[in-house]
Amino acid sequence: MKWEGGKQSENLQDRRRMGPAGGIAAGGGVMVIIVLILLCMGADPRQLQQLLQNAPQAPARPGGAQVERPETAEEAHSREFAATILAFTEEVWGEQFQQAGQRYEPPQMVLFSDRVLTGCGAAPSAVGPFYCPADKTVYLDPTFFDELERKLGGSKAEFSQAYVISHEIGHHVQNLLGYSALVHRKQRALSKSEGNEWSVRLELQADYLAGVWAHHGQRKYRFIETGDIETAITSANAIGDDRLQKRSSGFVSPESFTHGTSQQRVRWFSLGLKTGDLSRLAEIFEIPYGEL
Ligand SMILES: [Zn+2]
Repeated sequence: MKWEGGKQSENLQDRRRMGPAGGIAAGGGVMVIIVLILLCMGADPRQLQQLLQNAPQAPARPGGAQVERPETAEEAHSREFAATILAFTEEVWGEQFQQAGQRYEPPQMVLFSDRVLTGCGAAPSAVGPFYCPADKTVYLDPTFFDELERKLGGSKAEFSQAYVISHEIGHHVQNLLGYSALVHRKQRALSKSEGNEWSVRLELQADYLAGVWAHHGQRKYRFIETGDIETAITSANAIGDDRLQKRSSGFVSPESFTHGTSQQRVRWFSLGLKTGDLSRLAEIFEIPYGEL
């Protein structure tokens, strides 16, 4: 994949060098949001003030700066890569939304290590990359990609990594377009297994969206190189369900749902890549489940 030298997004936050302080600082931010929501619901402001005072604060140096260690070359590389892919998604989705007469609100992306506090709760690295709709943020521990890199070799694995990121951005697009809410509404009236089928549809739609992004991205940037698609498709299986289903308990993310079979994932990603057609998004909810 050709990405070096591309524009980098400003919506990326790297919390990897903050140590535990990074997570705690975020916790404070989340706490402020919780307090604001509670205030809107008519909670007692004095009790809330107490809650805020008891919230953990990030330790600050006398100058007020966060305690950060210097960035390693590896960290700089993964930060630049993620920021560039994020910028590619912002430009492509910005154009696609504009053509549909809508405005694209780009998500945030947070790089973390070990664990992170999010608008959807605290999450360990083991959950893999995920999108939190509550704070419209993609969370990624880049060491998730290490295994992929070991198997394929660094540069070969890049488009596969971009595919993983664009799948998560796909969940953001679903959130903006109302598909996530639609599915969650349906699921409330369904049994667990029937509800799971709708989760699979949502996951496959995110794969389709990743393909649509790659289609338009390729036209714009010519970033796909020979062999990239094949590598992405085979590795998507390796880092798909098997890995995602082995997540540790205690954190419920949309990614803990079944993603569909490898074959289904490849089919929908490939269809998005081939057509680049956003107008076919609803199809995935209309096809009988057995024919997905
Ligand atoms: Zn997903």
